[in-house]
Parts: sequence; C-alpha cells; structure tokens
Amino acid sequence: MFRKGLAAFILTTLLSWTAMAQDARTVISNASKALGAENLATIEFSGSGEDFALGQAPNPSAPWPRFINKTYTRTIDFNVPASRMSRIRMQGENPPRGGGLQPVIGEQTQNQVIVVNANTPWAQQLEIWMTPYGFLKAAATNNATVKEQTINRRKYNVVSFTGQNKAPVSAYINEQNLIDRVETRIDNPMLGDMLFEAVYSEYKDFGGVKFPTRILQRQGGYPVLQLTVTDVKPNAPANIQAPQGGAGGGAPAAATSEKLADGIYLILGGYASIAIDFKDYIVVLEGPQSEARASAIIAEAKRLIPNKPIRYVVNTHHHFDHSSGLPTFVAEGATIVTHQINKPYFERIFSAPRTIAPDKMSQSKRKPKFETVNDKKVLTDGNHIVEIHHLRGSGHNDGFLVAYLPKQKILFEADGYNPPPQPNAPAPNPASPYTLNLLENIERLKLDVDRIIAVHAPADNRRIGMAEVMRMAGKGN
Ligand SMILES: [Zn+2]
Repeated sequence: MFRKGLAAFILTTLLSWTAMAQDARTVISNASKALGAENLATIEFSGSGEDFALGQAPNPSAPWPRFINKTYTRTIDFNVPASRMSRIRMQGENPPRGGGLQPVIGEQTQNQVIVVNANTPWAQQLEIWMTPYGFLKAAATNNATVKEQTINRRKYNVVSFTGQNKAPVSAYINEQNLIDRVETRIDNPMLGDMLFEAVYSEYKDFGGVKFPTRILQRQGGYPVLQLTVTDVKPNAPANIQAPQGGAGGGAPAAATSEKLADGIYLILGGYASIAIDFKDYIVVLEGPQSEARASAIIAEAKRLIPNKPIRYVVNTHHHFDHSSGLPTFVAEGATIVTHQINKPYFERIFSAPRTIAPDKMSQSKRKPKFETVNDKKVLTDGNHIVEIHHLRGSGHNDGFLVAYLPKQKILFEADGYNPPPQPNAPAPNPASPYTLNLLENIERLKLDVDRIIAVHAPADNRRIGMAEVMRMAGKGN
C-alpha cells in the first residue's frame, strides 16, 4: 500500500510538473499569436508624452519631476538585440521644481542606443525585454513558469522568468492573451531592490501586430515614462549601430585631492567632496553618486587624515546623485547630517531589502544614524567651523543645504550653481532660478564668500568666485 501510494504521488507530481511547463509554453504561444509577435524581428514605435527624472523630486514625498516629450521614437531589434531611442524634450515643471538638469531651455534632443553585449547591464536591457514582444521572446527561452492570479476580479496568467540579476520578470497576461503589465526589480543604491513596472493598455492593430497605444513605466513607485503611441512600424529596417567610444562606464576615476586650507581638503575625481580634519575625527561634506565613488572618497579622506574615524557626512540634499554614497558612509559608522525632512525618508528606504546587489551598508548590519538640520547647524571642534545653512525658497529642493567655512570664506554648494566646463561660457538666458535663489540666500545670510566649491566641479578645477556666479546669473558682466 505504502509503496503504491508513493509511486502514485511521484507520478502525479511529475504529471503536474510537465503540465505546468507545457502551460507556460502554451500561454506564451497564445500571447505571441494574439500580439502578432511570432514573426516580429524589429519594431519601431513613436508618439509623444512625458519622462520623469528618477530620484530628483523637490522633496522626499513628491513624484519624480516631469519633462515633456514632444516626440519620442524607439526602435528595437529583437535578434541583435538592440534598441535605439530618440526624443525631443522640453521643460515640464513650470516654475522649475526638482532636479534632472532643470530648467531645460527650449528643445533638447536626446538619443540613447543600447546594443546588448556580454557587458550590457541588465537594467538597460530591460527596455527591450519589458516590452510585450521582448518579454515573450525572453520568456520562451528562459524556462518561464506560469501561475493564475485574479486581480480586481480580472483573471491573469502570470508568466515569470528569472532575469540576469536573479530577480523574476513577470508579465500579467489577460483573458484576451494581451500583456497588461510587466514587472521586475532592479538594484538602486538608494531604494535597494527597486520595483520597475511597465503598464500597457489600449492595444490597437498596426499591420497585423497589436501594440499598446498607452505605455506607462514606473520606477520606485512613481512614473518615469508616459507615452501615447501614434505610429508603429513592425519589421521596419532597424540598423542599430553601437555608439562610438566603447561601452563606457567601467571603474570610476581614482580620487585626487587638493589642500584648500590647513586641514581642509577638496576631493576630486567625480562629484566633489571636502574632508575636514577635526580634532578627534573627520567630517566629510557630501557622500555622492555610488558606493564606488563613496569608497574612493572615504579612502582618500583617510589617506589625507590618517588614524581618525569619519564621524559625520553632511548631505546637501536628497537627490539620488548626491546621496547614493550615503549608505557606504553608514557602513563606515558615520552619522548623516541632513535636513530634517529627509530623515524619515532615508530611514525608510535604507531599510528596504537590498538582496539583488547587497551593498556595504546591508553587509555591515549598521543602522543609519542622523543629526538633522532645520535652519542652521554648526559643527566645530573649537578650531574648525562648519556652518550648515538651509537655502530658503529654492525650487530645486525643499531641504537644500549648503556648508560655509567662515574662517576660509569657502562656500560648498550643490546644484544652486553648476559651473559650465568653460569659464567664459555664455550665461544661460533666462538665468537659472536655482542660481538666483543661491545668490538671494548668500545675501540674506550675509555670507562673505571668497571661493565656491561646487559639488559638480568643473573639469578644469578653476577657482570659482562670486564674480563668475553673478555673471552666470545675468547680474553684472
Ligand atoms: Zn539636485
């Protein structure tokens, strides 16, 4: 009896396993037929809409800021595989609010080409594999599984395969065999295992291929792209060429440094930071960009100022390019000094799962520590003085901070004034409201500024004084 029962159990398990595998193949095949994806080698779709700059919100509870896409065209070659996007962008937030290189003056052309090779990051490839057709092609060759799920009384076949980053990529296929949604997770230095969703609706027929005329992409819970598609060309010649100059990316530049004054060092080689030699510890201004950049800054600070711990890292604002090194400083044991509006946000996102790319913070098991700033805070050891001031009324960020060293008359700032590569570049017209606001705050706070250290340091590392900022703000000559 027992033996017979076991055999029956194994047989049933095997049967249902085979049935399941067949089901995934059947579901993929039915969806491919319904979408007209079976003989689709390339697709070009165009329309208009909006894009949104991830991590560049004006405050931690606002969505990503918006830019108008007057035109948008994407061509995908599923066989290479490769993708080419080109669009004309315009300022979307009026008045400017948040980051992402606002304000865009006039029309800006943006191009992006991805030709997938062994080194192409998975997150970039998702522009191909998260389209309905790309998903079906990837699922068909990656041991996809299927399960049934009912959401809001609608029945779905949810097909999943494992992405190169080990996170599942799942498509919600409706009863018409059309894909309503594709979702996965990608690693983000701030948000951890970040949700990436693509929502497809209002499918229409374009020469035998059904294509969604509404596309919505969300990352980290907010839209990053919203498109109304007006034209689709199935199997149009794609001819996507890899961009010149290699794959790019690679290891970040090594940190270099310059002594600004006794015990005060400017660290370059990426976004600029300053390391200050306090009596018993090191204070670092800004923990930007990435774990790699933060690690380079930390190593350089410790080389310049040996045998002292990094006690504080001062954060100018929560924009991801200025904060993505903060978790690395947490792993180092440093306390984050930031505007008070950021504390609950950082606490929440820094405790989110970080399983896709476990970072030094999650490995260290250290919890972030904060000291917050409202209007002003002073860090001092009796010798060095670092005044941290809130920039009132900036559209760039509601919790915008600058650091001022009164003895050395140095102002450390981010995104209030971003110096152009050339010192004699023409002033933007109209002047950036963020630069005008920086000048208003310098005046209000009566800061006597001799030298400005911009986090977005110019490549020539020229000395930037108030005259340059005034000229670029359209004041004086
Ligand atoms: Zn910013």
